[in-house]
Amino acid sequence: MILDLKTIFVTGAVTCLVMAMMQLLAFATGRFTHWPVWWGLSSLAIGLGLLGGALRGTIPNVLSIELANTLLVGGSMLAVLGVRSFAGREMPWLACAMVLAVTWTLLALLPGSEGFAARTAVMAFVMAACDLAAIREAARLAQRENLRSAWILVGLFVPTAMFFMLRGALAVRDSVGTVMFPPDPGIQGWGSVIAIAFFVLRSSALLLMPAERSNNLLAALAQRDPLTGAMNRSGLEQAVARMATKSAGMSARVSLLLLDIDHFKLLNDTLGHGAGDEVLRVLSRTVHSQIRATDILTRQGGDEFAVVLPEIGAREAVRIADRIRIAFDAAMSNLEGAPRPPTLSIGIAEGDLASHPFDELLSRADEALYRSKRLGRNRVQAQLVPDDLVL
Ligand code: GH3
Ligand code: MG
Repeated sequence: MILDLKTIFVTGAVTCLVMAMMQLLAFATGRFTHWPVWWGLSSLAIGLGLLGGALRGTIPNVLSIELANTLLVGGSMLAVLGVRSFAGREMPWLACAMVLAVTWTLLALLPGSEGFAARTAVMAFVMAACDLAAIREAARLAQRENLRSAWILVGLFVPTAMFFMLRGALAVRDSVGTVMFPPDPGIQGWGSVIAIAFFVLRSSALLLMPAERSNNLLAALAQRDPLTGAMNRSGLEQAVARMATKSAGMSARVSLLLLDIDHFKLLNDTLGHGAGDEVLRVLSRTVHSQIRATDILTRQGGDEFAVVLPEIGAREAVRIADRIRIAFDAAMSNLEGAPRPPTLSIGIAEGDLASHPFDELLSRADEALYRSKRLGRNRVQAQLVPDDLVL
């Protein structure tokens, strides 16, 4: 089959222009920041570049060669900028303007059919460099935000980067002919078809990333308490289930701390709910400052918090709990107007998540917390199982 490359260029151009409209309309809804603009402009520039290329011989060369090719390079760079903007990184405008100016100048210095191979080499290497930059940006984004769709984007830029590098190498060896649309484009024509297909595919794949990011954000928010930023109960349940599964039959020893602010109702009644909220936020910050990144803090409800300390025994947990209690005391010492500075009562239980239900641990820690309250508050108590050591 002999490919009609011109028709393929025009079809690719029209598809890119439709994608551009979709992306620019997405921005016009006002629901996004600036990244759909860069992707929309990228599709627009690539669409116009392909159209200009398809019209070679029909319109002046300065439009079908210099302008069309510079638009293709600009479109590829805008795709990179779109990924950077999505990732919240700064935009290297000056470097982009310089690449565009150098591309235009080189193309203008290599006119006619005798300059075709050199022009092809310039274009192929600049386009390959843009695609490699896009791969780097998308891979960074995929790792940082754990976005699978960004890996899809990486996969969609790899074939075009390879195609352009191969085409550049052939152009350097003067094996690309002397015209853009030869009567029988052969295997290189198929390369162009595949590259155009990937241009279109990746601009639609770009739309997957915001959808996945929103999903991730919603899932994270569903597991957080909005007031204190600590995890909520459902987050705790999922984290504990993950710990038990990860232990794969081995022991998953943890200590659980239950914290409750003493006489919190009185504080709310005298200083108001706003001041009470601030005390809850201070408690969350204080606990975070005393535990490891792998420990989990959750707000169980009201003024009660839980801390899960993986691979920590009851003895060590008592020391950590006392550190938290003293740090909270210090943070509350300058709270003005309080009838008495709020203090913490803490109950502790140790257990193995692989062999015992978490609820059992929770109820033992609750008994210890109750004992702290009964013994006069502002203290730490551990609930020991019979074969445990005495503290
Ligand atoms: P105790 O020493 O026995 O713990 O006494 P307490 O007054 O702290 O009693 P309890 O723990 O039962 O009181 C919890 C209070 O927390 C009741 C409610 O008014 C208050 N509370 C619950 N949620 C919030 C919140 O989001 N913000 C504020 N400011 N207060 C809350
Ligand atoms: Mg309380």
